[in-house]
Amino acid sequence: MNFNCKENIKMAPYCSMKVGGFAKYLALPKTESELVDALRYFREKGEKYIVVGNCSNLIFTDDGYDGAIIATTDMKGLSFENGIITALCGDTLSSLARTALDNSLAGLEFCYGIPGTVGGAVFMNAGAYGGEISEHFIRGRFLNANNEIIVLNGDELEFGYRKSRLMREELILISAEFKAENGEKSEIRAKMDELMQKRKSKQPLEFPSCGSAFKRPEGYFAGALIEQCGLKGYSIGGARVSEKHAGFIINDGNATATDVIKLLEYVAETVFKNTGVMLEPEIRVII
Ligand SMILES: Cc1cc2nc3c(=O)[nH]c(=O)nc-3n(C[C@H](O)[C@H](O)[C@H](O)COP(=O)(O)OP(=O)(O)OC[C@H]3O[C@@H](n4cnc5c(N)ncnc54)[C@H](O)[C@@H]3O)c2cc1C
Repeated sequence: MNFNCKENIKMAPYCSMKVGGFAKYLALPKTESELVDALRYFREKGEKYIVVGNCSNLIFTDDGYDGAIIATTDMKGLSFENGIITALCGDTLSSLARTALDNSLAGLEFCYGIPGTVGGAVFMNAGAYGGEISEHFIRGRFLNANNEIIVLNGDELEFGYRKSRLMREELILISAEFKAENGEKSEIRAKMDELMQKRKSKQPLEFPSCGSAFKRPEGYFAGALIEQCGLKGYSIGGARVSEKHAGFIINDGNATATDVIKLLEYVAETVFKNTGVMLEPEIRVII
């Protein structure tokens, strides 16, 4: 194999929730061709595999992952030409926002502070403060299940709220093109600073987490429902409903993946019993 690959690696340090057991393989491709090689290699080997970014929206169980985790975090390559920003799947959303700022492009400020990669953001249709990645996505290069590279436009990706076609069909994002409006640099910078300040004041960034634990149910806010049910500060083992923002489940330092999963289930059950609203986890549990 011509890509960096480690064996028997504990995943907790790689995941923003800081939980999870050992992976059989952790592959870290640096380029498009290494990513394609890694996927082909593990597919031909018949190994179970998953492509991840910064693991800021997923957890692995305490049993770990009996297969290959292909992490794109070493794949970087932002560029700007003719009004279009091109990113590799492993570029972070914050660096995408900074590239937009450097080129006086407005609209991507919401990406600043979301701790994921472009690949994870397209998969999840990440968004914040009224913006969504789908609004800026022009087209992407993907590897499909037949090991073919295909190009898909935004309108072919079935984007919805924290939803995309990548959730139902095996499509690995390699690179993507984004558009944004011309803007005033000082205003773009001010908006990025303002949104970062909001995050710092409202979110428990001092603890490991995966951001919002649940999707926003239509007509409600998950955090408000959880708080209304008296669950703020409720904990199972080392996993706790944040006192600062009830929509976040945090790791107090000693959580296991099992604690997080049990707490996700307990919170959803309690909210359903008390309010009749069924919360759907935004955190993905990978088995
Ligand atoms: C403190 C904090 C704040 C957050 N705030 C926000 C927020 O404001 N808005 C928001 O939407 N999210 C937020 N998140 C969640 C998370 O950062 C986003 O969902 C982000 O887009 C996930 O990117 P990632 O690279 O970490 O993906 P991962 O967690 O590594 O993966 C998520 C999913 O994407 C898939 N995937 C990853 N890369 C690829 C690829 N190249 N091709 C195909 N599939 C791929 C994975 O298989 C997985 O199913 C927050 C998280 C934290 C910890």
